[in-house]
Amino acid sequence: MKKLILVSLLFASFFAKAQNTVANFKLETDKIFDKLIKIRRTIHANPELAGKEKQTQETIKKYLLDLGLEVKTDIYGYGIVGILKGAKKGKSIAWRADMDALPNDFPDNVDFKSTIKGVQHGCGHDVHVAIALGIAEVLAKHKKTLEGTVYFIFQPEEEPFTGAKNMVANKLFAKINPTEIYGLHITPMSIGQIMVKPNELFAYQKGIKIAFKNTLPKETLAALTSKIGSTLTRTINNSKPWELQQILDPAVGLASPNTIFKDYFLVDENHVINYTRNDTTFLVIDVYETDKNKLANIIPAIKKVIESEGLAAQLLALTSPKENPTIDNNPELTTAAIEILEKNYGKGTVTVDYGQVPFSNDDFSYFQQKVRGVYFFLGGSNFEKGMIAMIHAPNFMVDEESIRIGVQRFATLLFERAKK
Ligand SMILES: [Zn+2]
Repeated sequence: MKKLILVSLLFASFFAKAQNTVANFKLETDKIFDKLIKIRRTIHANPELAGKEKQTQETIKKYLLDLGLEVKTDIYGYGIVGILKGAKKGKSIAWRADMDALPNDFPDNVDFKSTIKGVQHGCGHDVHVAIALGIAEVLAKHKKTLEGTVYFIFQPEEEPFTGAKNMVANKLFAKINPTEIYGLHITPMSIGQIMVKPNELFAYQKGIKIAFKNTLPKETLAALTSKIGSTLTRTINNSKPWELQQILDPAVGLASPNTIFKDYFLVDENHVINYTRNDTTFLVIDVYETDKNKLANIIPAIKKVIESEGLAAQLLALTSPKENPTIDNNPELTTAAIEILEKNYGKGTVTVDYGQVPFSNDDFSYFQQKVRGVYFFLGGSNFEKGMIAMIHAPNFMVDEESIRIGVQRFATLLFERAKK
């Protein structure tokens, strides 16, 4: 009986401790929230294109040094890594945030508008930086109870897909040695909603380049592109997975097991490029395939269409110069992450994704090729306030409350995952 009381007391104190950590994380996040908003707005007003993230790096560096973190800037470009060592032994894990802005000139409907003409944070990377700094600060305040080491990787050049690849090539993982890596991206889902899926989160993106002898009429190229589309497109029940407005639809969107955003092949007919140089005509198209095993069939299938259109004699080359890897979440870590988030923040905190998003991708995939990891979608829209976080869109806007939610949830996740 006594033993039972002792056991239940121990259990109660363990549970109270877990609840306390979450309560503390919430409190700490609230305390620094205004500071995080300020830093996000500073970065938003001073956006820097890929390869030019100098000021952003300086802002991050100062913040991390103020927290007492060790900082490394000798990796690649304006990349920067903050190292937070917990007082107790545990694992080494990493969090990644991207830093670069876009070459846009949209209205940017906020008071802290971009001060750089033609450059904007239209993909939310300013928000990602603020969330990462917030997580670093919350965890730094729990250094005494933190088990293990957390690396904060601030990555430049995400948009051109060169930053992660070059950080890896420059031996990032010889300088730091995480066994797990996590990251997120703002999406148009409702604020605070977290979505994740084991395995591929996006479709595989393939850039196809076709070279023809002589100058081919534009109409011939348009007809060929449309024939490739009509011959090779594969969807479920004649659905239209290229209609992104359906992505949040409860019946056919990503969160439905009956999603139309799975098992498809499509041609991005809105972004076709063609030009003639030195008596050679080039046609460049992007295609999306959800099934890794079908990637090798694409080039032969396109070749057949070219032949069927009577263009075989003019064909000089058919190549695939762009083959980006895609986000591929580790199933075991995905399950563990969902469990931690839902245990601490309640059932329904995480929405399971059943589809693969077309037209989009993230070079976080290069990190995942080296270190198993999980990449999450974090909702940033506030539909009532008219804020739609549709990245790269002219009216892109993020509700900054997503920063608060991102910091709380993912500080908890890292704190728990760092434990042995
Ligand atoms: Zn982005």
